[in-house]
Amino acid sequence: RASVGPKYLSGLNPEQREAVETLDGPVLVLAGAGTGKTRVLTTRIAHILSQGRARPAEILSVTFTNKAAREMKHRLGQMLGHAVEGMPWLGTFHSIGGRILRVHAELAQLKSNFTVLDVDDQVRLLKQLLQAENIDDKRWPARMLAGLIDGWKNRGLMPSQVPSGEAAVFGNGKGGKLYASYQERLKILNAADFGDLLLENIRIFREHPDILRQYQQRFKYILVDEYQDTNVAQYLWLRLLSQAPSSFASPRLREEVASQSDAGEGDAPSAALVETAPHSDPLPVKDGAREKNHVKNICCVGDDDQSIYGWRGAEVDNILRFDHDFPGAKVIRLERNYRSTGHILAAASHLIAHNEGRLGKTLRTEDQDGEKVTVTGSWDSEEEARGIGEEIEQIQRRGEKLNEIAILVRASYQMREFEDRFVTLGLPYRVIGGPRFYERAEIRDALAYLRVINSPADDLAFERIVNVPKRGLGDATVQMLHDHARKRRIPLFEAARAVVETDELKPKARGSLRDVVAQFDRWRAQREVTAHTDLAQIVLDESGYTEMWQKDRSADAAGRLENLKELVRSMEEFENLQGFLEHISLVMDRDGGAEEDAVSLMTLHSAKGLEFDNVFLPGWEEGLFPSQRTLDEQGRAGLEEERRLGHVGLTRARRRAMIYFATNRRIHGTWSTTIPSRFLDELPAANVEITESKGGSAWGGTGGYGASRFDDLEAFGSSYSTPGWQRAQANRNRGGGRSGSGGHGGFEDEAATFSSSSSAGPDFGS
Ligand code: ATP
Ligand code: MG
Repeated sequence: RASVGPKYLSGLNPEQREAVETLDGPVLVLAGAGTGKTRVLTTRIAHILSQGRARPAEILSVTFTNKAAREMKHRLGQMLGHAVEGMPWLGTFHSIGGRILRVHAELAQLKSNFTVLDVDDQVRLLKQLLQAENIDDKRWPARMLAGLIDGWKNRGLMPSQVPSGEAAVFGNGKGGKLYASYQERLKILNAADFGDLLLENIRIFREHPDILRQYQQRFKYILVDEYQDTNVAQYLWLRLLSQAPSSFASPRLREEVASQSDAGEGDAPSAALVETAPHSDPLPVKDGAREKNHVKNICCVGDDDQSIYGWRGAEVDNILRFDHDFPGAKVIRLERNYRSTGHILAAASHLIAHNEGRLGKTLRTEDQDGEKVTVTGSWDSEEEARGIGEEIEQIQRRGEKLNEIAILVRASYQMREFEDRFVTLGLPYRVIGGPRFYERAEIRDALAYLRVINSPADDLAFERIVNVPKRGLGDATVQMLHDHARKRRIPLFEAARAVVETDELKPKARGSLRDVVAQFDRWRAQREVTAHTDLAQIVLDESGYTEMWQKDRSADAAGRLENLKELVRSMEEFENLQGFLEHISLVMDRDGGAEEDAVSLMTLHSAKGLEFDNVFLPGWEEGLFPSQRTLDEQGRAGLEEERRLGHVGLTRARRRAMIYFATNRRIHGTWSTTIPSRFLDELPAANVEITESKGGSAWGGTGGYGASRFDDLEAFGSSYSTPGWQRAQANRNRGGGRSGSGGHGGFEDEAATFSSSSSAGPDFGS
């Protein structure tokens, strides 16, 4: 049996197999797209379990999105042929950090039912703080401060650790102070933001070595996907957990860690490491076996060419110095790509080769060459959407599944045109990581009710709904409650309870407020005996919220009522209210109706780790992709990250990759002429084919398409020369389409600069 090995190992190539079977010590799999990194991680968990090396609860596995975590759980079940009993800690950094923080909430001055704030809540809270400090929120927008705080948290910096120069950039030197009072306010509100979920973990680990040790002992195996996109806070968190229980650690580690902090990698992070370095006496050794290595069994996989979250604080350096951080690490490279055909892989490799800052690696496929990557020009974005719509219908007619089709856009505003087109065509589609269901106003209102029931100290939620529907509790009343709450340092809800016993309010308002308090008390009592889904329905009805929309005459009221129904339905998937609310606050990627056969629409950022037979890549134009911001920037860093994004996009495709550009595009209501992306110049001629738009007029038709730089496209050499060329030339001389047009909203990175909680991410993130 030993020589053949278990079934899940068969089919792996020797390098993959080595990565799965090297269970002791640190392992880094540094390899290109589609080489099976994620598959290796999943198989590794199966291997650990079936070898009896650890129980599920002793495995910590970090994925980049919640969706990826679900996928991994599913695959694991398939590999093992049975459901896993007791689940591994499998999820995003945020979700696992949140889970740990709930257990030790009191050490972060929180209660275990703390609320996780979303961006809107965060900004609203910061606005209040700015007001209190008399800082003009026009000059110093709350969103900007949210972005700064987020950045600090991503770097693992507590208020006291922010370099004073940086803290001073906001609000005439008040940035640091605002960060500190924001943190204080969060505690009073019994709330945490996304950054806190990890930052508070780190602090607790640092200040309570016994707790850290508990987790170090628990997690016998740590696995991390997409390691190239970890930020400093995530890195620190991993470093802390991946040291062997501190009593075993050698003096050498202490020295190493200390010398590292001298190397000037930023004070706070290294300080954290120094502090967790062991000083205590050895503890009794469990099971008799001392670990011979002071670093645990950690396996990270990643690809420096797919690092696309630098703008959100990710440090590609983390992966580049892995073997320095984890001495004795085994570095494994995988070179065979199992995903894409020859032409696609060649195009992607050629594109990324234009980046200077990279390790460089070989990628080969044993697949056929397949179809060439196509490049299609359209007159405008509408025609582009029409062309892609027709192409999709053709693919469908050939009997292929819509699930195997994805459209990957650079900026989220590009999606609307496709959505409109799909609705017209009756093509089912889903938006992944898009405007999330729970971000709709009616959903957020409903959630606010549930949040107040769950945590009476949730002031932001209380404030949101205290006068929704209208109950005659206007701003003046709310202001009064605020004053009360501040004076006595109690939550708004408790302030309300106290105020209705006095005669400070006019009788009508007092009566109204008393009703609100009584209702919440009743609902909280009901919570003990009523299913959470029923409770939600009761709350929506009794509060008058449903009725408010029933009476509303606006066109979208019916849709909102539908959404509310959907919300109650969606709660069924959760055991209780707390679990549901936790999910809501953590969910970073939505996949509407996973069962349905539908086209997937998402940003390039959200596409990380995914694969589809057919991938459409619209909008390859200067100023859109690469984005205007990276073009305006000094230096190549931004541009190289854009190129990696292009590389990620192309490598999502198994069989067909189809690139589009339009000559005219409307941005924020204004049309402008654009020129094709420089990335088109960088594609290899042998693997690319120019095609005609199926959408109608444009390509080679009506003329007047500024179709461009094709004269000097490496790919197209002399093969292309038409009158369009001259116009393109003129465009180029003008410096391209939209110079100087200010904000380009909708770019995933710009929107999310202000918060790690938006986007995939991810899981944002995530
Ligand atoms: P990315 O960098 O895009 O995240 P990855 O390195 O994680 O890619 P996977 O998603 O794990 O790659 O694998 C890519 C595809 O190749 C998957 O469909 C996977 O099932 C398949 N694959 C990986 N290894 C093998 C193998 N040894 N034999 C057959 N198929 C494989
Ligand atoms: Mg992967």
